[in-house]
Amino acid sequence: MSTVSDYFGSNVFDDRVMRAILPAGVYASLRKTIDEGTELDIGVANAVADAMKNWAVTKGATHFTHWFQPLTGITAEKHESFIAPSPDGSVIMEFSGKELIKGEPDASSFPSGGLRATFEARGYTAWDPTSYAFIKGRTLCIPTAFCSYGGHALDKKTPLLRSMEVLNRQALRILRLFGNKTTKRVVSSVGSEQEYFLITKEMYDQRPDLRFTGRTLFGAKPPKGQELDDHYFGAIKPGVAAFMEDLNDELWKLGILAKTEHNEVAPAQHELAPIYTTTNVATDQNQLTMEIMQKVAAKHGLVCLLHEKPFAGVNGSGKHNNWSIATSEGQNLLSPGETPYENAQFLLFLCAVIKAVDDYQDLLRISVATAGNDHRLGANEAPPAVISIFVGDELNAVLEAIENDTPYQGAERMQMKLGVDVLPKFNRDTTDRNRTSPFAFTGNKFEFRMLGSSNSIACANIMLNSAVAESLRIYADCLEQAEDFKMALHDMIKKTIRDHRRIIFNGNGYDDSWIGEATEKRGLLNYRTTADCMPHLLDEKNVRMLTALGVFTVDELRSRRDIMLENYCKTVTIEANTMVNMVHKRIAPAITRFTADIAKQAAEKKALFPELACGYETELVTKLSALTDSISEKADALEAALTGLQKAADIMEESALIRDTVVPAMAELRIPCDRAELLTAKSYWPFPTYGDILFSVK
Ligand code: ADP
Ligand code: MG
Repeated sequence: MSTVSDYFGSNVFDDRVMRAILPAGVYASLRKTIDEGTELDIGVANAVADAMKNWAVTKGATHFTHWFQPLTGITAEKHESFIAPSPDGSVIMEFSGKELIKGEPDASSFPSGGLRATFEARGYTAWDPTSYAFIKGRTLCIPTAFCSYGGHALDKKTPLLRSMEVLNRQALRILRLFGNKTTKRVVSSVGSEQEYFLITKEMYDQRPDLRFTGRTLFGAKPPKGQELDDHYFGAIKPGVAAFMEDLNDELWKLGILAKTEHNEVAPAQHELAPIYTTTNVATDQNQLTMEIMQKVAAKHGLVCLLHEKPFAGVNGSGKHNNWSIATSEGQNLLSPGETPYENAQFLLFLCAVIKAVDDYQDLLRISVATAGNDHRLGANEAPPAVISIFVGDELNAVLEAIENDTPYQGAERMQMKLGVDVLPKFNRDTTDRNRTSPFAFTGNKFEFRMLGSSNSIACANIMLNSAVAESLRIYADCLEQAEDFKMALHDMIKKTIRDHRRIIFNGNGYDDSWIGEATEKRGLLNYRTTADCMPHLLDEKNVRMLTALGVFTVDELRSRRDIMLENYCKTVTIEANTMVNMVHKRIAPAITRFTADIAKQAAEKKALFPELACGYETELVTKLSALTDSISEKADALEAALTGLQKAADIMEESALIRDTVVPAMAELRIPCDRAELLTAKSYWPFPTYGDILFSVK
């Protein structure tokens, strides 16, 4: 039995492998490319490619692929084998530097939102040496960015890398102002906690809604749900434990630091968290994790549901994006320091985040917007669609003291003059208690909790990195010109707190009164749906910031808005069609059959015992008939809403129609169906119920 440390990362072409097998000169120049973003010359690329191939072949790989993240949200790959013919009729295994650096997938069917006319099918993929290549199955996967020939990004990695670069640039300017002359890079890191449901394949196969849409479109609440909270951190069932064991092994082989696993609040719901790493790598690894979860589940006769809301009335699944920024020497810039100077620097970075989140609430909301996540944000288990920041009481008192030039009322009572006094030590525990905030400071990092479980974390981090870079840019522009740095710094921090106090909320984000206060008193944004928020991607201030920093071009933004809206419309339309189909093909016939049988039985009973009233049967038949009529009427209404979509002139109109007509019609149709489920005998109901599914894994 080998130990984890023996096989951890065994399928990754990581630093250990590179150092061991690359010639020293090649290794040094590749390392420089990885660490500093310098260009790689073709000679080095050839050497790396050859070594990579030899390594992969000894591990059983026969193919390679440029692995990328198109705007569909999942990852894409096109496999090519290493084999090349040899004159004697045999084959040799070949892989050139050119093939490593650049690929040309036939990309005509990936969404481009009009950026790449379909006749111009060629986009290209470019190697991202900052994310290690790895072996999946028998294929060497090379993480790449995906662009059009016109240079437009067609993926999520390209803008993510750009956003990391701009954050690096602006953060370095700030560090220099604080006298740091040595730091070469500032890097953002992420640890993403992933929630998911596990159900048996047997149950899944019987539900067309799960198969077509990833969530249940019907289903009455089971008698036992999550009321007792007995699942949370409860003992893990053997079937689940076996899955988790296998999953960990697979992730570890891929160098993914899967660290914690536990049951979540809802029955059948679980969570996996890796140890945090560089944002770009964390993004690739989270995509891989989601993919591997589904593969491993299949091996165990299970299905892993990554949908945000697989079961109505039961907690949905999210993904917590733990984010921090650190210097290349490993100093966490969101960690309160030891000296007054370090503390002032910490407060400035903290303020940069506060300002960023307030100025770009809309972009953060947009970054997590999908049809699936619309079911979750604002329901009572997820943060609301309104964005606010939790900083905790202790830090809040510090901010208040600075804002008002009053003494800090903490343990040591001190005047908050920055750069002079030492900040009190924050107790990490006191900052980590709020679980309802969409954006919480948790001692040395921020936890953005609005992401849906199936979201790529790329979008959220693109917006976060960019918005914070923009705050830092504004700070640096001003502070670099300041005559008295300390004074200017103090004023800057004070002004930020004063201007952006409204975004700080330390109370309960699930409280209904909060939404009223947030929107009416504080003027915070509340975009409830994807259709509401997505058009604001193109708001002037957003375009200005994102294009000025060079994270997106206007065309890229427009294409992304259209693709996201298209995705929203398609998702809901598929769900609506599935509902109509299930009603006509399964639900209505089942209820009718059951109703007829009850009526027949009542008639038989009456024939035998004319004196009996048959009140139960009569009432049931009456209720079920009424429900069937209602179902039929509401299915017609949903179909009419779907037909009405043809009126839409463009994707913006279509998404508004979806929100205003289709989504409500779906909710309406569901009500009589779920009621009928409760009245219909189990043997008649055409698919497994919530109770069957949620407690299916043993
Ligand atoms: P919890 O949120 O349950 O309290 P932790 O705070 O220990 O758990 O960590 C949650 C996630 O945050 C993990 O993925 C962890 O690696 C990550 N994390 C911890 N520190 C940092 C940091 N400085 N930057 C980014 N992510 C971090
Ligand atoms: Mg957490």
